[in-house]
Amino acid sequence: MKQIALYGKGGIGKSTTSANLSAALGAKGLDVLQIGCDPKRDSTRMLMQGVWIPTVLDLIREKGEDSVSTDEVVRKGFAGVRCVEAGGPEPGIGCAGRGIIATFRLLERLGALQGDVIVYDVLGDVVCGGFAMPMREGYAEEVYLVTSGELMSLYAANNIAKAVARLAKRSKQTCSLAGVICNAKNMAGEEELVREFARRINSEMVAYIPRSRTVQLAEVHKQTVMEYAPDSEQAAVYQELAGRVLTNDRTSIPTPIEMDELEDLALQFAEI
Ligand code: ADP
Ligand code: SF4
Ligand code: MG
Repeated sequence: MKQIALYGKGGIGKSTTSANLSAALGAKGLDVLQIGCDPKRDSTRMLMQGVWIPTVLDLIREKGEDSVSTDEVVRKGFAGVRCVEAGGPEPGIGCAGRGIIATFRLLERLGALQGDVIVYDVLGDVVCGGFAMPMREGYAEEVYLVTSGELMSLYAANNIAKAVARLAKRSKQTCSLAGVICNAKNMAGEEELVREFARRINSEMVAYIPRSRTVQLAEVHKQTVMEYAPDSEQAAVYQELAGRVLTNDRTSIPTPIEMDELEDLALQFAEI
């Protein structure tokens, strides 16, 4: 079983990329479980034709941990992808990261943490102990950083790389960096910039996903690109990413860079 996690800045396209990746893997006949680990709880919505599925944390709060059943938390979406949303704590109290772990424990108890591939879609703005939980607890084995060429998105990716580096050095840790996914904003020099960023942090850019109107059209039709436009160029990009993820055996301990170096890099490519 492959356990991969997509981390990145909020709004950068983690859920869009995760959902299309899961759909592409599902279309290959694989048993895929996607777990939204963002209190925004919209990770799996496009796989579920726009339906907001109940979150694990809401169900635990309403019914008590022992009364929640698999059918309530795991919903089958497009291409047979099994969908779960961890949800978040009540506003103002509780720790979102602890909620993620409570979700994993429940899924484990229900025997639902299985399949060919598990895709974790995790928020990466704050790399606090809470959101690093999927890595710390050994769930997120292969971490992919989703970033565009924008400085703040690279900054978030670099911070996540710091967390991966720290955790990968601990004994019995299984998490490592599996690559950088460029979800483009179509800036000049963006592909080269992200490729170079990946190289500097001792990794590799594994996919370049263009900014595409097809993604927005699919979204307003409440579908993944894989469902809405399976023959489109954008769908082919997600299929290629799925193939790459399945065969990727190059993982590394990242070497995050300093902010000055990151700024210099962004400046260098902005002026090309
Ligand atoms: P995140 O999960 O990182 O917060 P989302 O996946 O929700 O981000 O994406 C934020 C917005 O960006 C969505 O409206 C989505 O449709 C759009 N988006 C993401 N990737 C692309 C892309 N490659 N081309 C066009 N729009 C995109
Ligand atoms: Fe929020 Fe992270 Fe603090 Fe938990 S550890 S309360 S997720 S900031
Ligand atoms: Mg999201």
